[in-house]
Amino acid sequence: MSSKNHHFEISKHKDYLYVIKENISLVHPVYTNDPLNMYLLLGSHTALLIDTGCGLFPIKPIVDELIGKRKLLVFNTHYHWDHPLGNVEFGEVYIHENEVELVSKPYDVSFFKDSPNEIVKIYAKQNFLISPANTIKPLKDGDVFDLGEIEVKVIHCPGHSPGSICLITSTGELFTSDVAYYGDQFLPEKDRFSEVLETLSKLIDLFESHKNLELYPSHRKYPCDKTLLTDLYNGIENIENLWHTKISFDFFEAWQIDDDSGKFRYFISKS
Ligand SMILES: [Zn+2]
Repeated sequence: MSSKNHHFEISKHKDYLYVIKENISLVHPVYTNDPLNMYLLLGSHTALLIDTGCGLFPIKPIVDELIGKRKLLVFNTHYHWDHPLGNVEFGEVYIHENEVELVSKPYDVSFFKDSPNEIVKIYAKQNFLISPANTIKPLKDGDVFDLGEIEVKVIHCPGHSPGSICLITSTGELFTSDVAYYGDQFLPEKDRFSEVLETLSKLIDLFESHKNLELYPSHRKYPCDKTLLTDLYNGIENIENLWHTKISFDFFEAWQIDDDSGKFRYFISKS
């Protein structure tokens, strides 16, 4: 089942799993990781919304309709703009403790002031400062939430950002957030790659005890399998060999390196 309101595309992927997609290139064409995938898990008594998107159009009415009488939990996988800007619609949102402060204040999206896309007028009306949720609660590695029939465990996965999390369910899904997907990768400076690789190998190790895990990334293709993690691990390890090909990409204040596999393009922070 798939339906489209004027902005989000909603599809029922499993009885208990909906995907709400939003195209982030609408905000600025430099972003090519379409779509952003927000996931809605339905337990027997509680639902979990994973990320709230770009904050351009209301998402809560869609979520409310899908969850029925269930209680709702809302998580942000991390603080980057495309994931928490719909938070204001929800009273309470959880994020990893390292990023609570970052999403507790109005989110400054003035870096979109020069976007050629009309849609940023929606941000301009708010002076490029997007309101936060009323209450932000901290998540820690190992926290477990019972949705009824489905349990969700938080895995702290620093690298893409200091408080990035992945979520593993008792029903065999691994929500990988922006820690792993096919597409443009936003990486920290080169001397912190060891942190990114450590996180990826921690996720690869999960397959020792959970053979058939399905990966649900926050961007582009889903579901993916373990190959996504090994492809990305090998790709990041190989950046050193491609370092001489780097070009400066000013919008992201980053070095751009194109992977020869065509699966990834890397933006590596300069600061
Ligand atoms: Zn993202």
